Amino acid sequence: MEATGYIIRVTPYQEANAIVNLLTANGLVTFSARGILKINAKNASAIQPFHYVKVDLAEGKMATARYSLKNAELLCGVEKIINNLTAMSALFTIGEIVNKLFVNDEEISEIYPYFAAAIKTILNGFDPFTAILLFLAASLKVAGYGLEVNQCVNCGSKKNIKGFSVEEGGLLCETCLLEQGGKSLSPRMINIVRYIFLFPAEKFAHTSFAESENSLLISQLLIYLNDMLNVKINSYNDFLKVSKV
Ligand SMILES: [Zn+2]
Repeated sequence: MEATGYIIRVTPYQEANAIVNLLTANGLVTFSARGILKINAKNASAIQPFHYVKVDLAEGKMATARYSLKNAELLCGVEKIINNLTAMSALFTIGEIVNKLFVNDEEISEIYPYFAAAIKTILNGFDPFTAILLFLAASLKVAGYGLEVNQCVNCGSKKNIKGFSVEEGGLLCETCLLEQGGKSLSPRMINIVRYIFLFPAEKFAHTSFAESENSLLISQLLIYLNDMLNVKINSYNDFLKVSKV
């Protein structure tokens, strides 16, 4: 069978073999690739993290991988940004989010357009910081943990929205913000919170935000992710380190 998608994980086993996870529009495809980690292996240059590839697969015999690789064709690589540490770390952060959050094919089909848009726009020079924020928000939404952004999460009021709380899971009106506690936000930040939970994948590179805006919201959403799903995104710390150099 043939499959087209993004390589999101290459796990070595035994000598020079690997189990490869390919994210496709229809779900996750897992295959074994024998000898792929040898430097002169036929498909070695195609089978790399975040490469967009078309693979030809045979029915495999392993319990961990249903298919084995016959041939891989590289459709789009990451050589454009391979020396850009910030952009590469953003890819790894996005890859870790997708690896840790999604296993079922239905959710993967839903997140796939956002993932593809994130990779493409980063390759084309879009702000990697904003890309992480947008992808993180889209992932929370697809996983069923999107924040309530249409009204106050506590009382349902649509007026006087003045802040938000990740503990409550959404925006808060002035009264509830005073009563419940939470983070007070500027009108611009409230608009950003609404935007990141509502934008369609086609508009991924439509707008980017300031570093301070991205970092505040990403850190809050990562706390939320950890509280809700007990998931930590370790690559984000590496991203922060390299983006400050
Ligand atoms: Zn309220």
